[in-house]
Order: sequence, then C-alpha cells, then structure tokens
Amino acid sequence: GQNFRIFLSSADLERGWSFFRRALEGESVRYDISASAPGGPELMLDVTLFPKMSHGNVGGVYAVMQDTTERRRAARRIDLQAQRVRDLYLLATTSEYTSSHVMSTLQTGCRLLGMESGAIVTGSETPAVEMRFDSLELFSGDDAALMEIAKEIASHRDPVLSHASTSDNEPYKNWMGTKVVANGTLYGVLVFFSTVARTADFEEIDHDTLALMAALVGSTLERQRARSNLRTLAYYDSLTGLPNRLYFQDSLREAIMDVHGQTQRVAVLSFDLDRFKDINDSLGHAMGDRFLQMVARRLVDAVGSSGLVARMGGDEFTVLLADPRDAADAERVAADLLAIISRPYILEGFEQFISASVGISIFPEDARSDEAIIRHADMAMYHAKERSGGCTSVYVPSMEEPVRTRIQQEKRLRRALERGDFLLNYQPIVETSSSRIVGVEALVRWNDPQRGIVYPDDFIPVAEASGLITEIGEWVIAEAAAHLSDWRKMGMDNLSLSVNISARQFFHADLAERFLRQLNRYGVPATALEVEITESMTLSNVAHAIETIRKLKLLGARIAVDDFGTGHSSLNYLRRFEVDTIKIDRSFVAGIGHQLSDETIIKAVLAMGRSLGLCIIAEGVETADQVDFLTNAGCERMQGYYFSRPVQADVIERLLRERGTLRAPG
Ligand code: C2E
Ligand code: CA
Ligand code: CA
Repeated sequence: GQNFRIFLSSADLERGWSFFRRALEGESVRYDISASAPGGPELMLDVTLFPKMSHGNVGGVYAVMQDTTERRRAARRIDLQAQRVRDLYLLATTSEYTSSHVMSTLQTGCRLLGMESGAIVTGSETPAVEMRFDSLELFSGDDAALMEIAKEIASHRDPVLSHASTSDNEPYKNWMGTKVVANGTLYGVLVFFSTVARTADFEEIDHDTLALMAALVGSTLERQRARSNLRTLAYYDSLTGLPNRLYFQDSLREAIMDVHGQTQRVAVLSFDLDRFKDINDSLGHAMGDRFLQMVARRLVDAVGSSGLVARMGGDEFTVLLADPRDAADAERVAADLLAIISRPYILEGFEQFISASVGISIFPEDARSDEAIIRHADMAMYHAKERSGGCTSVYVPSMEEPVRTRIQQEKRLRRALERGDFLLNYQPIVETSSSRIVGVEALVRWNDPQRGIVYPDDFIPVAEASGLITEIGEWVIAEAAAHLSDWRKMGMDNLSLSVNISARQFFHADLAERFLRQLNRYGVPATALEVEITESMTLSNVAHAIETIRKLKLLGARIAVDDFGTGHSSLNYLRRFEVDTIKIDRSFVAGIGHQLSDETIIKAVLAMGRSLGLCIIAEGVETADQVDFLTNAGCERMQGYYFSRPVQADVIERLLRERGTLRAPG
C-alpha cells in the first residue's frame, strides 16, 4: 500500500525511474539496487521489470524483487577470504624464516584485519615484545598495556580472543590475538591492536585469518628450530662441541674470500696429538674422550677471538688464524699453543702428559683453495711428526715428495755439507757494448760422489724444507767472498758478485749480519755484492722484506729481482723495495723471434726499467739474434750460454786474467 519511492535513496530513485521508463516503453530490464524501509536495515535487491501488454500497448509493469543481501555478503566474504589466503600463502611459501618475514606477516595482518599495529609477544610469565609492526609511523605504543593483553590471551582458554573497549583508561580500543604454538609448546602470542574503536565487529573470517597467521608463525619457528638443530648436528662435533671439519672448511672459504689485497693472509694450523693411541689403549676410550675435551678447551681458551678452533676428527684439531703478520707470526702462535697443550692434565687424580705436532700453511703463499690449504697444513704436520713430534713445521712444496726419498735426500744433503761436497760455478754477466765482464753470478752445485754433479733445482727444495738451506747459503756466501777477494787482488775491483738466496734464507732474521760477517772475513766490501731475490719472496711478507732489504742496502749491497716477469711484480713494488736491478727471465728471451708477446714484454720492461733508473740484465741469452734484438731494444747487460755457461772459478779467473773481457764468439 505504499509508493516504492520511499524505499529508495534519492540517487537510487533516479536510477530506478530510468529502468521503469524503459519497461514502460516495452523493454524487460533487470538490475541491482539497494533499498531500505525507513529505519530498517539496508537490503540488496535484484529487480526484474517487464511490461504488461494489453492490445499492443503497455498497460502496466510487473516487478519481481528478490532480497540478495545474504547471498552478496557471502560472496564478498569468499572474495575477501580468497585474497587473504593468497596473501598468507605468499608468506607461507618463503623458504627461509627471517625476522623480515615475521615483520611482513604482521604487516599483512594489520592490512587484512584493519588494525594499526601487530606484535609477537613471547614469554607468558614475563612477556616481552619480540617483534612489532606499526602501520602509523608516529604511533608510539604502550607496551605495558600490550603486556597485559598478551598475558590475557596466553592464559585464556579460547584460541582466539578479541576485545572492544569504550573505556578511556585503555589505550587500545580494540584488539584481537591468539597463541602461537611451536612444536607443541606455547611460544608466545600474536596480537593485533588499534587505538581507535572499530566500526564493525570482528567476523568469523577475521578469527580464521588470525588463527592461520599464528599457525604460520608457529610452523616457521618450528622449522627454524629444526634447522638450527640440524645445523648443530651438521656443523659441530658432539664430543667437544667444537666446530667440525665442514664448519671449518666453510669458515676458511669465507676467510679467503674476505682477504683483500696482497698483504693480507690466512693461516691454517693443523694439530695432531702425538701418540694419542697410547692414551686410548692404556686409559680406555672414555678417558681418551675426556682428554680430547680438555685439549679442545685449552685450545679454545688460548686462541680466544683471534681465530677459530675446530676438531677435524680423531685427535686432529685445526686453528684458523685470520691475518697473521707472516709465517713466523703463525709459527709463534703455533709454538705457544703447543706449550699450552703439553702442560700436565689431571685425569682421575693422575697427571698425564701429551704433546702435539703442528703443520702450518698460509694463504695465499702456499695454496689458493681452502681444500689445498688444509691439505698442505696436514702435510706439514706429518712432516713435524716425522721429525720428532712436539714441533712445528711450515709447508714447503717439496713435502709433497714421497716421505722416504725426502728423508734420504735430507740425510745425504747433510752429509754433503759436512764433507764439503758443494762447489760454486760462476756465470759471467756481460756489458755488450764493450764486451766486458761486469759481474759474475754464483750458482751452487752439489758434487755427489754417487750421482755426480747435481743441479740446484734438484736439491734446493729439500734444503729449504729441512732448513739446511741456511747453512748451504752461508757456505755459498763464504766461498764466493773468498773467490771474489782473489779476483779483486788481480785488479778486478769493479767486478760485482751476484748470489741467489731463497725464501727461507731471506726470512732468516740475521741474513744481512751473516752476509756482512763473511764479506768482512775476506775483506770484500758489501758494495760488490748483488743479492738476487724473487718476487714471490717479498710478497709473502712485505714488512719483513722491506726490513731485510733496507739492512742489506744500508751495508751497501745491491738488490736484483731475479726471474722478473714470472711473478706478480708491479711498478709500485719495485719502488717500494728500492730494487737496483731487474733480471728479465730467460723464458721471455727464449721467445725472441717467434713470440711477439715476449718481445713486447721485453721492450716494455726495458722502457719501464730505464724510466725508473734500474739496471736491466737479460738472462738465458743463447743466440746472436737474441743479442741483436736485445741490443736494439736498449738492453746493455746480458747473461747466457751465448757468452758463457756457468763455469768453475779457475775458468772465470783465466777469462778475467787473459782478457778482462769476454768477446762474443763468431
Ligand atoms: P737462476 O738464478 O735463474 O740462475 C740461472 C740459471 O739459468 C742457472 O741454472 C744457469 O745455469 C741457467 N742458465 C744460464 N744461462 C743460460 C742459457 O743461456 N740458457 C739456459 N737454458 N739456461 C741458462 P742453475 O745453475 O741450474 O740454477 C738454477 C736455479 O737454482 C737458479 O736460477 C737459482 O734460482 C737457484 N740457485 C743457484 N744457486 C743458488 C744458491 O747458491 N742459493 C740459492 N738459494 N739458490 C741457488
Ligand atoms: Ca739468479
Ligand atoms: Ca734467473
């Protein structure tokens, strides 16, 4: 009995009229419109209008209306739910659980639930905010009120709790929260809250969303814990609690990647207890385990934060030293640790003793991969064990040789030193413009009664590894000084003497003093001496190299870089070390005439050397063509078979006496 216009708002009335007019013109129409009886709830109506015809004219309009309010609300809820599930799915499928994922869970929750803030509060007795997200930047939360809410949620039986307040005393006008359970235990609560009152009540779907998020946080926490348990199993040794081999390798790899520049290094110290088997056999395995735990403890306490201690298995421990100054520095640390390990242990009221052997390998000098560094440190450790045990040994390449032959060689070398089976050959260095011999290089040979003449490449590495090189080097400088003194007496005052030294000698603290002593003994001035070093020697310990070179130069000796071009020289390097001479490696000279790149390098080295005011010697000159090329390129000093092979002292003496010069043959 009422006009329908009273059910429609004015905007909808206009729309309603337009459809009604179309029906009056004979058209059927269907549309949605919202309507409400005065004071009643708003309804969504689905309206169909169709004309009522009489005699070809529209006599009226039928209207069929259906209340679709419930159906639509349900559809909207399904849409919303689908959207939420999509959001949550994205969070759930991120494989790594990080704090930023918890943060985005909180952020998503705020958006989905229409809240200002979200938080995860842990610990039901003394709750604390673990993480919190505030969608309003300036929002400053009241943690005390939040703690009260968290406690209430944690202690409540209902899984999801929500609350709306009208009281002025409560800072949060509405909140909603649930428990977070990880692996069956209560982890904390997830709560969303707001300082403004809500316009609509929470719906069932809001509860579902919250429960879903809590399940998500709970399961990711559980996964995270499982992962860290797995990590513990995978990366730690269960007996000592130390990092295991895998952990150590990972750390070493990282340390290597972190190394910047050529001055930084990483040392690996490989420890192995001496005769640990005896302890196991005599005291039993349980005691053996206790022993290992005590050793581990001591190592960890001693190394502290300066390195990483790991158990590689059995009675093997390793220490990673980040950035030792040099090999000697690492050796010092190793020796300290050995001393600490060998202090008495009290086991079941008895004093027990043990010693250990250490091998040291250093990145980047000894190896460039983590795997090789560890292998080399082990090799050095076996070497130390073999010697006597209870000592330290630094890796050198000759350690790779079969142990037996090496030990034999070492013995024979030692005997040769005692019997004086070494001799020196000299190879002239020629100034090509005048054909004068300006210097000689002393090259050591071993006159082995069994094998005949043995060349340095075949015994210097063993001499290095065994430490015999120091004594051999001392013999070389003494012998050479004696010869030079003779030649000087013959009037060859300007003849310079080149001697080679190897890495181990170079790092001997008093190299300069030892040299000086021998020179003085034969009355030879240090200014006649040229010391040949290689690029790699200086790189392994720049500070020490600078110091040694400075001492040698202070005495008046000159410094030559041997085998130049085969290492990692730079201009900067030559400047820093105040090098006097460069010896172009014979591999470049060998390329003259058929290797354009070698020729280019030679020219470049000569140009660079000239500009730095360096003396340049080409090594391994064998042909006239090579002499021509080098001469044209501006190289004035040469050395090689073309002029003379290395010869005995008396041959050199004859050459010097007869001519003082050495003319090129042909
Ligand atoms: P190096 O310092 O590069 O010495 C030059 C080497 O090249 C010598 O080999 C020499 O015989 C060889 N050589 C010279 N001219 C020619 C040539 O025209 N063609 C070819 N193919 N080779 C030529 P050697 O005597 O066998 O010495 C080998 C290395 O042993 C030396 O290389 C040096 O690094 C080391 N060495 C020699 N004597 C000593 C020493 O007293 N102490 C130390 N620590 N190392 C030494
Ligand atoms: Ca040399
Ligand atoms: Ca050389």
